[in-house]
Amino acid sequence: MSEFDVDLFVIGAGSGGVRAARIAGGYGARVMVAEEFRFGGTCVIRGCVPKKLLVYASRFAHEFEDAAGYGWTVGEPTFDWPTLIANKDREIARLEAAYIATLERSKVEMVRSRAVIEDRHTIRLVKDNKTVRAKTILVATGGWPHMGPNIPGLEHIISSNEALHLDAMPKRILIQGGGYIAVEFACIFAGLGSEVTLVYRGENILRGFDDDVREHLRNEMRKRGIVVTCGHTVTEVGKAGDEFSVKLSDGSSVTVDKAMFAIGRRPNCMNIGLEKLGVRCHEHGGIEVDAYSRTAVPNIYAVGDVTNRVNLTPVAIREGHAFADTVFGNRPTKVDHNLVPTAVFSEPEIGVIGLTEAQARKELAQVDIYKTSFRPMKATLSGRDTRVFMKLVVDGTSDRVVGCHIVGPDAGEIIQVLGIAVKMGATKADFDATMAVHPTAAEELVTMREKAASYKRAAAE
Ligand code: FAD
Repeated sequence: MSEFDVDLFVIGAGSGGVRAARIAGGYGARVMVAEEFRFGGTCVIRGCVPKKLLVYASRFAHEFEDAAGYGWTVGEPTFDWPTLIANKDREIARLEAAYIATLERSKVEMVRSRAVIEDRHTIRLVKDNKTVRAKTILVATGGWPHMGPNIPGLEHIISSNEALHLDAMPKRILIQGGGYIAVEFACIFAGLGSEVTLVYRGENILRGFDDDVREHLRNEMRKRGIVVTCGHTVTEVGKAGDEFSVKLSDGSSVTVDKAMFAIGRRPNCMNIGLEKLGVRCHEHGGIEVDAYSRTAVPNIYAVGDVTNRVNLTPVAIREGHAFADTVFGNRPTKVDHNLVPTAVFSEPEIGVIGLTEAQARKELAQVDIYKTSFRPMKATLSGRDTRVFMKLVVDGTSDRVVGCHIVGPDAGEIIQVLGIAVKMGATKADFDATMAVHPTAAEELVTMREKAASYKRAAAE
């Protein structure tokens, strides 16, 4: 008899854990996965998917308005939040069932329990206080919203988790944060008709994105009535009946029906038994792993947000798959974290890949910038005040396109496809040689001829 109950024990059935379990199962490994909440993890249950459904819902208001310019008469539209949430929950339940069915097909044993590591081969299932012996352990426990310092009234503040399950839509909401989750929820609530205030402590929203993109989106959000307040923080939240009075660091206060924080996420790597084994993990930085997702303990691996590398679903999935190929498929596979395309489902949407202008100027000897901003065709008849923004960052020495930044309708869809070209090392000349598709917004990406700026680093730099 084997000294182990299973070949692989996966802690966490989110994007990374489920993929790893399924692929390892396919290689014939005996796999058990423990999940303390719901199968599917953050992406399916309280992240990408429910959020995108709310994004779709929020965009109808503009569609109704814009239709008038095209000759349609639309009656006064009304919106029912409980219907949206119930329908969204039904879809999430369907997806969770699909995840479970996939794991069943791969003969993966599923346990609904919190799991903690006792020693390098033993896992304790907290619910039944049982132990399981595993040859290999994969930690795929994801991340959790960070709520910041313990300010007065913190207990009244919701995170993105609760925002997806509110009983009623808030007429007024204040969101603190400047990252993509804060921005997306601000646009969702504004689209659905809430009065939205976005408070961010930094100079401008979306730190890490190209500066032109940040400025463009901020302006577009303002046009949609979102109050964007930078350079301040929330210091206190007081409750009076159903209302909340949110105090800011400049002494001002805003009265709202809900206050939400989206100020970052922390990896779920503490209190699961890793520290005592010598696995390096940090409350901010996540679990330290090598290129094969292996921790300092040779039979313990970690993938996804808990390793805090690139915290996106497709990356967690790729890491989980690569882990299973490496350990159970006899095919050592590293994940390339370079040039990951990504989207922000704001209104308008953002799609980006590669270097920002500032990063390119730091890293490259010569940088050429091409950019354009224009009114999308659809906005002509509708009369909507909105503009598309596009920028190409080109390595002036090799002519390679090293960055592409889009703000406008379908930017996420565009950047997915453009990502292939950029990943393959397409040059600006390749872009120029590609025939435009007319009339589209994306055609601008292959018709920009005039450099907006060109930078050369002095020889001594
Ligand atoms: P998770 O999916 O978080 O799964 C971890 C699982 O482990 C959870 O189900 C948790 O309950 C379980 N768990 C934790 N500890 C234990 C334990 N001790 N025992 C048992 N189970 C445990 N990414 C995108 O690519 N695109 C998007 O548009 C996008 N939108 C997002 C929107 C929001 C609001 C949020 C919060 C995230 C979003 N993300 C998006 C990020 C994406 O959801 C994550 O990168 C992805 O889910 C990470 O997968 P994971 O497998 O690492 O962890």
